[in-house]
Amino acid sequence: MEKHFAVIGNPIAHSLSPAMHRGGYQAFGIEADYLRLKVEPNDLLQAIQGLKALGFSGWNVTIPYKEQIIPFLDELTPEALEAGAVNTVKVEAGRLIGHNTDGNGFVRSLQEISTLEKGMQVVILGAGGAAKGIAMALIPYNVKIVILNRTNERAKRLADWVNQHDGEAATAPWEAGNWLNSADVVIQTTSVGLKQEQYPFSLKGISTQAVVIDIIFNPWETPFLREARELGCRTLNGAGMLLYQGALAWEFWLGGQAPIEAMKKGLLEAIGKN
Ligand code: NDP
Repeated sequence: MEKHFAVIGNPIAHSLSPAMHRGGYQAFGIEADYLRLKVEPNDLLQAIQGLKALGFSGWNVTIPYKEQIIPFLDELTPEALEAGAVNTVKVEAGRLIGHNTDGNGFVRSLQEISTLEKGMQVVILGAGGAAKGIAMALIPYNVKIVILNRTNERAKRLADWVNQHDGEAATAPWEAGNWLNSADVVIQTTSVGLKQEQYPFSLKGISTQAVVIDIIFNPWETPFLREARELGCRTLNGAGMLLYQGALAWEFWLGGQAPIEAMKKGLLEAIGKN
């Protein structure tokens, strides 16, 4: 019997998840489809009830519903509970289980180009939903986290949260500073760069040993990431995070190991980078 999956959000037209998941279904010969479904702001509950009634096995959730969907679910995994956000829902025996694969997806993608070792200094630029998921997923690695955010209060809240959850975090002002020469990993999680804007500050002074990641993947290389590359750092964009959060969602829904290479191929074809 064909299985049905989807991603719900608004806007959703440019989501690459269908191409990525369909690439995986093809590779494994799985009878399944994955749709992109736009949900209007007041229709979230009806949309979920509809998906359930239509026999969907699960769906991804994206902006702006990752938090709003929580009251409509029956159960949350520890990852979703801690993040306070859901990006993956599984229907199991009629129950809706909310999960979050963003943070662990990020870590898996980072591990493609770097190890994460105790005591390493990891700088997170931004303190929104994505930053929180990433910070949470970094806690088990015992790294020292430094958080910078335009709105400092929000950076402080996130650092407090990390410290209350057995992590180690501090904040620094939203500007170039001493953190640049001590950072082992710098993670750009704000939306600055989506429109190719220049970053508010330069990375000059960063160690060439540092790994720099921008979780944006469209544009493929933001001005921020370009500067890091030109300064000699190893860089990574957000396509890997997208890929691995999708792979972890696949594994949550279907079990076993996701077909990473086939999903990557589907994703890169859709982006036009094959
Ligand atoms: P949020 O709205 O939760 O957070 C936005 C963050 O960006 C805040 O830290 C905000 O700072 C900052 N910000 C926004 N505009 C500016 C500006 N002009 N100058 C400085 N800082 C700014 O969004 P998310 O955390 O959900 O998403 C952030 C980015 O991550 C998006 O670009 C999204 O596309 C990307 N993303 C990528 C994923 C992937 O799989 N690759 C997954 C999830 C997200 P302040 O608190 O001061 O407002």
